[in-house]
Amino acid sequence: MFLRKLFILVITLLPFLSEAKIIETITIKTVVPLIDEDTWLVVDLDNTVFEGKQALGHTEWFYDKAYALMKEGMTLDEATRECYPMWIEIQKICPVKPVEDVFIPALKNVQQRGIIVMGLTHRQPSLVDSTISQLASLGWSFQPTAPVKNIFAVPSSTPTIYKEGILFTGEYNKKGEMFTRFLAIISQKPKKIIFIDDKRSHVEDVERAVTEQGIECIGVHYRAIEYAEKVYYPEIAEFQTKFLKTIMSNEAAILLMQNELE
Ligand SMILES: [Mg+2]
Repeated sequence: MFLRKLFILVITLLPFLSEAKIIETITIKTVVPLIDEDTWLVVDLDNTVFEGKQALGHTEWFYDKAYALMKEGMTLDEATRECYPMWIEIQKICPVKPVEDVFIPALKNVQQRGIIVMGLTHRQPSLVDSTISQLASLGWSFQPTAPVKNIFAVPSSTPTIYKEGILFTGEYNKKGEMFTRFLAIISQKPKKIIFIDDKRSHVEDVERAVTEQGIECIGVHYRAIEYAEKVYYPEIAEFQTKFLKTIMSNEAAILLMQNELE
């Protein structure tokens, strides 16, 4: 009797178990064998493809600033709005580095196979140019195998933009909803999507939205950032901020340079 009940339970749960395809990994190498000719590879940017090279401008710096304001009583949205102008200014000059050295070479291999690779980021449209330059500094562009080449916005209550193979959803929109709207606009329905993001909640959200469209989806919770060398130290970011808008005398600059503090 018990076995029969167990059998019925397993049979009932099977479709759900097979639908929820989320894997965890700390390396892109695990993902590569899952990519076939029918796959679209969709990747998050911050803390997945790259991270800030220094404390100031790192995502952790942004979150630290936002949490400090939330402690003073702001909501998450209010704190994000407050911190975003400085985040934009700093991203214009902020160098980035790969989270995992083999990540971009792996993307290049996939792109050389003619497979669609695109970016899906929470960054706002005001960061388009900085983001494209940051990717270019790492020798990467989504454009060659982007799903479409034109530039357009996905309708939403806050600004979004699609440009050069990257969908910028903005902080306040759900990635899953924006991505499926994007697919509807370009009238394409991939057979299979692999979505990589360092945040579990985003992976679950996109996986759910895409699966609901009847598209096979593998969500990849990519945890490499948790094992990367620490970049953000509040006191260093604070010091770096002091030099952000300083017109320095030649004497002061030479002094810092001689002490290798530039
Ligand atoms: Mg991220």
